Amino acid sequence: MIKTPQNMKDYTDQIRATLKEKFLQTTLNNFATSYKASRAKAFSGMDLEALREEIACAKDAALPRLEELLEEFTRHAEADGVKVHFAKTAQEANAIIAAIAKENNVKTIVKSKSMTAEETFLNDHLEKQGLKVTETDLGEWIIQLRHEGPSHMVMPAIHLSRYQVGDLFTGVSGEEQDPENIDKLVKVARKQLRPRFIEADMGISGANFAMADSGAIGIVTNEGNARLTTTLPRVHVTLAGVDKLIPDIKTALTALKGLTRNATGQGITSYVTWIKGQPPCGASEKEVQTRHIVFLDNGRLALAKDPVFSEVLRCIRCGACANVCPIYRILGGHTYGHVYIGAIGLILTFFYHGRDNARAIVKNCLNCQSCKVVCPAKIDLPYLIKKVYREVMDEDGKRPLRNRLLARVMGNRKLFHTLLKNAWMAQAPIADGPKIRHLPTIFGRKHDFRTIPVLAKHPLRDQWSSFKPVVRNPKLKVALFAGCAQDFIYPQQAKDAVTLLASYGVDVDLPMDQTCCGLPLLMMAENETAKEVAEQNLKALDTDRYDYILTLCASCGSHIKENYPKLLQKENAVPEGVKKLEEKIIDFSSFMVNVLKVTADDFRVSGKKVAYHAPCHLCRGLDVVEEPRELMRVAGLDYVPAADEDVCCGFSGSYSVDFPEVSEQLLRRKVANMEATGADIVVTDCPGCVMQISGGMDKHASRMRVCHMAEILREMRKKE
Ligand code: SF4
Ligand code: SF4
Repeated sequence: MIKTPQNMKDYTDQIRATLKEKFLQTTLNNFATSYKASRAKAFSGMDLEALREEIACAKDAALPRLEELLEEFTRHAEADGVKVHFAKTAQEANAIIAAIAKENNVKTIVKSKSMTAEETFLNDHLEKQGLKVTETDLGEWIIQLRHEGPSHMVMPAIHLSRYQVGDLFTGVSGEEQDPENIDKLVKVARKQLRPRFIEADMGISGANFAMADSGAIGIVTNEGNARLTTTLPRVHVTLAGVDKLIPDIKTALTALKGLTRNATGQGITSYVTWIKGQPPCGASEKEVQTRHIVFLDNGRLALAKDPVFSEVLRCIRCGACANVCPIYRILGGHTYGHVYIGAIGLILTFFYHGRDNARAIVKNCLNCQSCKVVCPAKIDLPYLIKKVYREVMDEDGKRPLRNRLLARVMGNRKLFHTLLKNAWMAQAPIADGPKIRHLPTIFGRKHDFRTIPVLAKHPLRDQWSSFKPVVRNPKLKVALFAGCAQDFIYPQQAKDAVTLLASYGVDVDLPMDQTCCGLPLLMMAENETAKEVAEQNLKALDTDRYDYILTLCASCGSHIKENYPKLLQKENAVPEGVKKLEEKIIDFSSFMVNVLKVTADDFRVSGKKVAYHAPCHLCRGLDVVEEPRELMRVAGLDYVPAADEDVCCGFSGSYSVDFPEVSEQLLRRKVANMEATGADIVVTDCPGCVMQISGGMDKHASRMRVCHMAEILREMRKKE
């Protein structure tokens, strides 16, 4: 039975307990690595972006028409002798299915995998009516025997080892099983399940597609159990969310192209079953199967009309948003979801299982964008997760004090900057040179997994007028969006960039009215203040005066480009000024490679061995992948690729404060992967990542230096 923590204290306890399951982490880590390679292979030669766009558009076109599609589907299905039901709630759906079982004198049921049935807790309901229900998907059968919920939407038992399954099957079969012999374990399942199919009175399946123009359904599986479930018993019931309604088979085939490739990295699944009308059935006196289709609403029809959240109904349940999620990779689905797991699970839990179940888990997101870029339906999952976080707070009628205070301070630029400027004095008793080596005990030992840098005595803005290089006859005029980290912690990174750019004839300004980009506010779901600071920055950056708006912080850049248009849109249209900012904002590596077109002649050849950490918001948020690597090569550095260099370092602003245990794990892996390269320096393009990784290196007494791309480039520049 599923028990999801309803508050942060219980959730933290659950996280700590999960982190002790080393097998789980190894399995999920291995799966994530192999999934990445197989997915890339499965999509090779295909225009993946065009396919994602096609799937998103097809689903978007169907969503406003769900009621109409339901009517059309019902007309066609009932003309073929299939009874169609509509259930407003999960309880109604369960009651309808139980009534069908009673009417047809059903005693035993076989089931093929259905997340919708998990959503309604159908098995519990039917078993309470005295019915015997057997799951027939191998993974589902295993978790049914263990009285657990699925830990993944496609691979429900991914959290278990063959040893655990071996023990379980020894108990079920009454014979000692060899856990090393997977073939034999599978045969145990086959031997146990075959008689159940034959004796079953009713089969229950889900549906991946329900096609309105024919009244047919489509089911995608890998094991063939759905074919037995839907053909052998005399009664077949399909339970599907209304969001599975699509106009026709063409839409289904489009989604299918993305579904299996994205789910497991398979070019094609083993079985795709299309069912229409009443198939012949030897077990039925009427010689045809009795068929029912139950469509579940459970909030979907209202969701389909929501201007922001309707996007979540594009989901085709491929499970990939869990496969790539660095948190899922550490915690698995029982700690990272309720019934639905992974990124989509954090959202759907709120809508289908209520705010109590969503309250704690919805905070557990790094905003790393991995789910967003892998989603075949182009759902902006990280953005919607933050929106759900806000909905939960609104329904609770309270926002944490920390959120309210930070929103108040960050919304007032002068107050915010004054506090930051004065804070360096307060840190003096705990500072050790440029770092705070040990946090005061009030923060607890759990936050002591990295050192953190001290605030700069003189922020960039205070040094600017005396530092700004004079550039005569500039080639380009650029405004620097420094972000809080470079302004108040790492001014040297910005100074190195500006000095380097001056050597290329680029005149850089630092507009003084700029403030925090607002991403930390969005992470705390303080959308109103996030919007206010976005407006302040839009005004401060005065795009008409500059050729480019440059940022050395991938997170600021990605937030401005991706989220400002959403935050600042008016009546569903993005204002011209915001569009201009979106066009002009550029990251450092892209500026050097694509705008300045720097060459190897500009740099010394040092042969310094460097590893690279790709910040989430650069490689996914801004889709800048090749430029930093190209830049390191051009700058004469010996770049050594590291494992998982595009996986989050675990910083993510307030995330590392709220979830230090998870942040520590991610950082530990990052440090190990970087050290394994044998490089001397870790280069990255985001001050937040510099802070996290250098703090981790420091705690691990690593000899590796961590620096921003601008710093190493300035060092490598031949002449200025
Ligand atoms: S943004 Fe990253 S951390 Fe958050 S749900 Fe998506 S993949 Fe997981
Ligand atoms: S949200 Fe996207 S990636 Fe996640 S399960 Fe749905 S379709 Fe797949």
